[in-house]
Amino acid sequence: MATTTGAEISQGLDAFRSLVAQQQPTWPDAAALADVSARLAASAPLVVPTEADTLRSRLAAAGRGEAFLLQGGDCAETFADANALRIRNKVRTILQMAVILTHGASMPVVKMGRLAGQYAKPRSSNDETRDGVTLPAYRGDMVNGHAFTPEDRVPDPERLMQAYRISSATLNVVRAFTGGGFADLRQVHEWNRGFMRNPAYARYESTAAEIDRAIRFMKACGVDFDALRTVEFFVSHEALILDYERSLTRIDSRSGDAYDTSGHFLWIGERTRQLDGAHVDFLSRVANPIGVKLGPTTAPDDALRLIDKLNPDAVPGRLTFITRMGAGKIRDALPALVEAVRESGAPVTWVTDPMHGNTITSDSGYKTRRLEDVLDEVRGFFEVHRALGTVPGGLHVELTGDDVTEVLGGSEEIDDAGLALRYETLVDPRLNHQQSLEMAFQVAEMLQA
Ligand code: PEP
Ligand code: MN
Repeated sequence: MATTTGAEISQGLDAFRSLVAQQQPTWPDAAALADVSARLAASAPLVVPTEADTLRSRLAAAGRGEAFLLQGGDCAETFADANALRIRNKVRTILQMAVILTHGASMPVVKMGRLAGQYAKPRSSNDETRDGVTLPAYRGDMVNGHAFTPEDRVPDPERLMQAYRISSATLNVVRAFTGGGFADLRQVHEWNRGFMRNPAYARYESTAAEIDRAIRFMKACGVDFDALRTVEFFVSHEALILDYERSLTRIDSRSGDAYDTSGHFLWIGERTRQLDGAHVDFLSRVANPIGVKLGPTTAPDDALRLIDKLNPDAVPGRLTFITRMGAGKIRDALPALVEAVRESGAPVTWVTDPMHGNTITSDSGYKTRRLEDVLDEVRGFFEVHRALGTVPGGLHVELTGDDVTEVLGGSEEIDDAGLALRYETLVDPRLNHQQSLEMAFQVAEMLQA
């Protein structure tokens, strides 16, 4: 094991080990896990505390209605797809959406990928049976392989090291893209013009024309476009596998606080947010901005107790609640939570995840979602916050920059039969590039309303 420092001990970073941790793999070899953990603990951080602090202040602004968060990426990243082309397409899609949303919101958009670490998945069952053969469930490339063979499905701690290395390479590419000319506003705008050349998207023409006019206006005013060649871009993932998160946690030499340096923002999933559980305890001890997913059965009191535990000092931007209710439930389930939090006076940034409450199985047997339902949940999110006078702070989506066929609907409609054409996700269905841009146009309209 890596040597645990006094500062780490005094901050209780290992207290989670005596609590119940849901959704952890059964690692077959404790010595191998300890060895990998030690190597990770001795490795360079992926992100640094000052970046996490900057993000916290951006999320605080989103919580006050002075910025809007766009968080997007795969349900589950895969090692095989961590190549420059796929990463570029994903980042490009997020940047394109962000320009549309910035115009709609007339506010800065905080750009965050579900990437460079989104390699672990909670599962509804510990194992999977096919043709009478039962093997451990696939838990993400950080844990085991997707192929249905005993060799692949046995959890392998060496995959934690692989996840770290591939996250590092991914982040390097993301930083190069967003810090260079690739993120140039004029370039991103040109891509959006390319999208608009498809007559299927005629209904967004007036918004697109307004953005175009705004950019020409900026040019006429002599805006320094060279200053708009780079963007701030953050990375996030679900903090699920606690051995990985713990091993990448460091004490900041400036403040003495602990930071989980595996990503700027970490969230706790709907299935691991038990108040007395290991995930809540561990994330309560790191200073990063963090999120918690809240499903439709969340009691207002649960939300309040999560706040007590995760943000007792009421630091703005520290805690984001990512609600994932389902289009049919959000208008009934969200108001009580928002009201209780509003009454408590605690600062929370409210974000909608319109994906996870709207998952269905298509007639042809695919796990899918309807774009219509996804958009309706976002609409419900805005309605509820507007009715209560609270702030809709952002959007959390599963998307890819590629032309996959995983979500039903869209103006270039994907129907039940179309799902089979290019269904690639290993876990949940993602909006494709065009569906993502359509979503941005429609959410921009909601932001303006
Ligand atoms: C996810 O974000 O992929 C996920 C599993 O979400 P939730 O925890 O909201 O179910
Ligand atoms: Mn998912």
